[in-house]
Amino acid sequence: CGIVGYVGSQSALDVVIAGLQRLEYRGYDSAGVAVQAADSQGQWSLATDKRAGKLVNLEKSLAENPLPGGTTGIGHTRWATHGGPTDANAHPHLDDHRRVAVVHNGIIENFAQLRAELAERGHELRSETDTEVVAHLIGEAFQGDLAEAMRIVCRQLDGAFTLVAVHADAPGVVVGARRNSPLVVGRGDGENFLASDVAAFIAHTREAVELGQDQVVELRADSVTVTDFDGVPAEVREYHVDWDASA
Ligand code: GLU
Repeated sequence: CGIVGYVGSQSALDVVIAGLQRLEYRGYDSAGVAVQAADSQGQWSLATDKRAGKLVNLEKSLAENPLPGGTTGIGHTRWATHGGPTDANAHPHLDDHRRVAVVHNGIIENFAQLRAELAERGHELRSETDTEVVAHLIGEAFQGDLAEAMRIVCRQLDGAFTLVAVHADAPGVVVGARRNSPLVVGRGDGENFLASDVAAFIAHTREAVELGQDQVVELRADSVTVTDFDGVPAEVREYHVDWDASA
């Protein structure tokens, strides 16, 4: 339903939660976040939390069990289509190794077949969603380049989707993809944003990039790179958001 991604130097969790609050008007049944965190040895992992119900449930949970701080993260408010509104079905969804986290708007039409194939290959699916297959598929496809893994997976998907992902082995990178579902980049100074709606980042920047149909974007703190699903570089269409977001 609502998607927010952030990479920069602020607390990703704070930016993502504030962004999700700005998208609350859309209605939703669950919410979740994932941030990249480094331990004292500099080893990266993903810290996640997700809860059925209102955003306040997630915020309460985060207050009780704070996540380690990080400056790269993603968040989601869910409007369930496949699988009831439970903690397990809330996004982000992770792969078996907890290295990939994915949030998704829309419907993956061919998820049942992809799910069966993943189960045959030994993956353990932990939710009833159409979304979870994407996390496992990115985990399989990833060889160091998250945008490339996303492109490989998008070519296997049918349906309507906005997907946003982070990988523990791609620190400082957020990747998004879209087909028949909106995704907008917000460009900042040393920070960049991704969202299903500009309202999520308008407090930070009004310089936006609209992604085209069947495009993948790789976001780093200081770069925005757009390609099609085959990796062909695409033109970045920038515009200025001038409507009054406080209305
Ligand atoms: N189809 C996905 C699910 O049911 C995403 C729903 C949404 O757009 O929030 O989990």
